Amino acid sequence: MNALNFIDGVFVDAVDGKTLANVNPATGQEIGTIARSKKADVEVAVQAAMRSRKDWASRSMLERADWLDRIADGLERRKEEIAQRESRDTGKPLTLARRVDAQRSIDNFRFFADFARQQEPEVFEMADATNIVHRNPIGVVGLITPWNLPLYLLSWKVAPALLMGNTIVAKPSEMTPLTAALMCEVASEIGLPSGVINVVHGYGPEVGQAILEHPSIGAISFTGGTATGRHVAATAAPLFKKLSLELGGKNATIVLDDADLDEAVSGAVRAGFTNGGQVCLCGSRILVHQSIADEFTQRLVVAVDAMVCGPPEDASTQIGALISIEHLEKVESYIELGVEEGGTILTGGTREMTGPVIATNAGAFLRPTIIDGLDHTSRTSTEEIFGPIVTVHRFDSDEEAIEMANSTEYGLAGSIWSTNIDRAHALAQQIETGIIWVNTWLHRDLRTPFGGVKNSGVGREGGNWSLGFFSEPLNVCIKHSQE
Ligand code: NAD
Repeated sequence: MNALNFIDGVFVDAVDGKTLANVNPATGQEIGTIARSKKADVEVAVQAAMRSRKDWASRSMLERADWLDRIADGLERRKEEIAQRESRDTGKPLTLARRVDAQRSIDNFRFFADFARQQEPEVFEMADATNIVHRNPIGVVGLITPWNLPLYLLSWKVAPALLMGNTIVAKPSEMTPLTAALMCEVASEIGLPSGVINVVHGYGPEVGQAILEHPSIGAISFTGGTATGRHVAATAAPLFKKLSLELGGKNATIVLDDADLDEAVSGAVRAGFTNGGQVCLCGSRILVHQSIADEFTQRLVVAVDAMVCGPPEDASTQIGALISIEHLEKVESYIELGVEEGGTILTGGTREMTGPVIATNAGAFLRPTIIDGLDHTSRTSTEEIFGPIVTVHRFDSDEEAIEMANSTEYGLAGSIWSTNIDRAHALAQQIETGIIWVNTWLHRDLRTPFGGVKNSGVGREGGNWSLGFFSEPLNVCIKHSQE
């Protein structure tokens, strides 16, 4: 299946006809081609978005909310296909792609449609005047997204951007184009006005860069790595584009001495290894109180050892392939580094599959890995690996846990496991991060702020934060008449 650009309601090749190979990382096989777009393609897409923006902006928010529901209906009709495409593109287990990627992509559109219907006018009364706040569209916005949760993260931006009356030029990751293409097929099927959604595929430094630099794109919403985010900021900030940056993470899972150990172990496994550890929110550094550390770690090893690493389509698979062989090699280099830095591998660290079905060995498979004995400031314990690796560290007091949790350049998320909610809540407020879960992980209410501090990003998405980002507030202050 080939991924073409979707511009002005039509599927088209890149202007110069160039393509890239799309590889299934679980088999190493080429499964299609991707349009390799460049500046000229972005120009055509921006022109289409510019032409359609007045009409789209002139519709009421409620009318646009109805369009979001139609997109959700269209995605729902093709839910299984979303999961299949996502699994083939990423190598993730099909069961996970069904439960998380397909479902949450639909939910994102539904959520913002419903959220729009709950909006109240923003009016501020003074003794002698009334202020009415309008949220105007920005115009054309650029959306750039990564490969780990392809449609889930793209829809999280597309839905609020459209709702607020913007037209979009989106660039999905060059590794995972197939569900963005499906979203465009849905837009076409339901008759969404042409030019409202435009998708240009290709490499970041070619097509992504052209989006960053285009003078008619007023805002950039970017999700991806911290190094790329730094480049995005350096390019777009001098052009005074509005910027939202959702970047990398190195999140702590903090297990206090009064934690329910069964829950803490299964929570740490889920936080550490969901999507093969390729979620920005993954708890890749486990901090555990010294008094329970041996028992916790033993149980953790048993649980991780039992995880099924195998072909994505097998129903028992819990860990599929990583996104590519290159990424696998990068992840493995951290295992080597961990050993050099004095760590001990408690389980994993090899490429073998562990499930009932052993498929082709051309895939990017890595067993879930636990490394113990590292200093919490070591590179392995502080740099984002983005794979199925966790490190375990011991602490003696809450103060020490806080110091350890804060000892990375990242600040995206984390979880605390304790039966004392007041203690956990007090501790949560001292972690330098955007999100902390207590006795749970990745438990999302889409109205709440999502985003990070430090090198994990700038700004928040979710609920009103998304509506605020994708609009320009206009305050109209009307002086009351004297009589
Ligand atoms: P990446 O930074 O390599 O790529 C992200 C996107 O940026 C891709 O579409 C890529 O093509 C594009 N890009 C690359 N160079 C560009 C350039 N010069 N100009 C414009 N666009 C460019 O990230 P990735 O490897 O795709 O994704 C993994 C990273 O994403 C991890 O660091 C992870 O933590 C992060 N992430 C963050 C969140 C979050 O919400 N904070 C969510 C998911 C993933």
